[in-house]
Amino acid sequence: MAALLKRLLRLWSPSVALGRPLGRREASQDCKPGTAVRVRFAPSPTGFMHLGSLRTALYNYIFAKKHQGSFILRLEDTDQTRLVPGAAENIEDMLEWAGIPPDESPRRGGPAGPYQQSQRLELYAQATDTLLKTGAAYPCFCSPQRLGLLKKEALRNSQTPRYDNRCRNLSQEQVAQRLAKDPKPAIRFRLKEEAPAFQDLVYGWNRHDVASVEGDPIILKSSGFPTYHLANVVDDHHMGISHVLRGCEWLASTPKHLLIYQALGWQPPQFAHLPLLLNRDGSKLSKRQGDIFLEQFAAAGFLPEALLDIVTNCGSGFAENQMGRTLPELITQFDLARITCHSALLDLEKLPEFNRLHLRQLVSSEAQRHQLVGKLQALVEDTFGSHLQDRAVLDPAYTERILLLRQGHICRLQDLVSPAYTYLWIRPAVDRVQLGAISKEADMIARRLLGLLERLGMTLSQDVLNDELKKLSEGLEGTKYSHMMKFLRLALSGQLQGPAVAEMIVSLGPKEVRERIQMVLCS
Ligand code: GLU
Repeated sequence: MAALLKRLLRLWSPSVALGRPLGRREASQDCKPGTAVRVRFAPSPTGFMHLGSLRTALYNYIFAKKHQGSFILRLEDTDQTRLVPGAAENIEDMLEWAGIPPDESPRRGGPAGPYQQSQRLELYAQATDTLLKTGAAYPCFCSPQRLGLLKKEALRNSQTPRYDNRCRNLSQEQVAQRLAKDPKPAIRFRLKEEAPAFQDLVYGWNRHDVASVEGDPIILKSSGFPTYHLANVVDDHHMGISHVLRGCEWLASTPKHLLIYQALGWQPPQFAHLPLLLNRDGSKLSKRQGDIFLEQFAAAGFLPEALLDIVTNCGSGFAENQMGRTLPELITQFDLARITCHSALLDLEKLPEFNRLHLRQLVSSEAQRHQLVGKLQALVEDTFGSHLQDRAVLDPAYTERILLLRQGHICRLQDLVSPAYTYLWIRPAVDRVQLGAISKEADMIARRLLGLLERLGMTLSQDVLNDELKKLSEGLEGTKYSHMMKFLRLALSGQLQGPAVAEMIVSLGPKEVRERIQMVLCS
């Protein structure tokens, strides 16, 4: 068998079979698991970043930061047939956008790189060699046709398909014969009868005799690429991962991983499987895939802060549910022990409310407000562009005033360029007939308001204006206060509904109000 093994190992030597050398292997192997917290988010770039993946990344991030640890992004791109162009970039872009950037990643590099599995093939080959040497793995020569038939047969008998371990006990001669015909067999891991029990930090003690329900899994494909089960064990080990926080769909695979750790003589990390994130009705989030991609939320004006808050708010891990938590608060308040096994139900209808809250928090910070002003100016420019009659509306002081006045009323910055707020940026076309129908005293009201503005000067306050507007209606012959306000709102905004008239006057400023009112007089 020794000679045969040698041959097999030679066939699998990376320089022959795998091509790409591992960039920083030395450094990577030095990075032994220690006491430091090191966690990883390990998506496959087979799709763009969505709310489910954001949640997994976030729990890893806050756990790392809570323990002064490192948050690593590793791209699991070993299934080359399912790669989606742009997905890898999107995942890293979206982590940055969400404000939870990795400490180590394909883009940022780091001591345990490379951070893309397709560039770590040598490590998987080495681990496979070790497993072959000790007999914990064996070559499998079964053809795809045979495996397909096995699967069909199982399904016909309403059984879960499993490999029948046919190549498990081939003799030396049989292996030699088959190798001559098929020099690149897949390699399977020999599952032991007794899988170790383990304590999941969320689901508690688990024991699952995987060999009784599954056939021996392939760990290295004939293409030289590993499967997920081998790759995640090898990488978590070499990257010094201390805790694996991942979706609970991987809970049942963990015993398999533990057997691989055992066979390689490695200490496994601690596991914490996260319960599912579902829609409010309990359906799978993926059923709404189309509208849960982060890029779409970003384009629609939702804030990363609101998304982080809503995906943690619907789940567990905190002493209480509370809206409006910021990332630093999430970090200090998070407690892994408080994650329960219940699925988290996400109610996206509440997202605008979360966004309103976080937008308000940002407006209250001068530095953040400054940035929002820039964004709002860009939105106004994009939306109205050449229609802007007066470029003065792009003045930062004007935009900031609008933000300060409307915070709490709007959910997204985008709301401020919606039809209801167009009057802020473009003079309205006021319907004279409609104005006349509200009050016959148009000239009188207009002149009184102009007089009032003259008296009040440049600095207007809503409180003072509210008092003065009440007085303004006194003495009008046939126009009640409420009608006068309706008249003014229409004259200033072209709308019958909207913010309070006093607020409209403050936001537009005395000069613009004067001009709009004079237009009424001229009509
Ligand atoms: N690539 C796997 C996934 O996208 C990662 C699972 C894990 O974290 O171990 O689900």
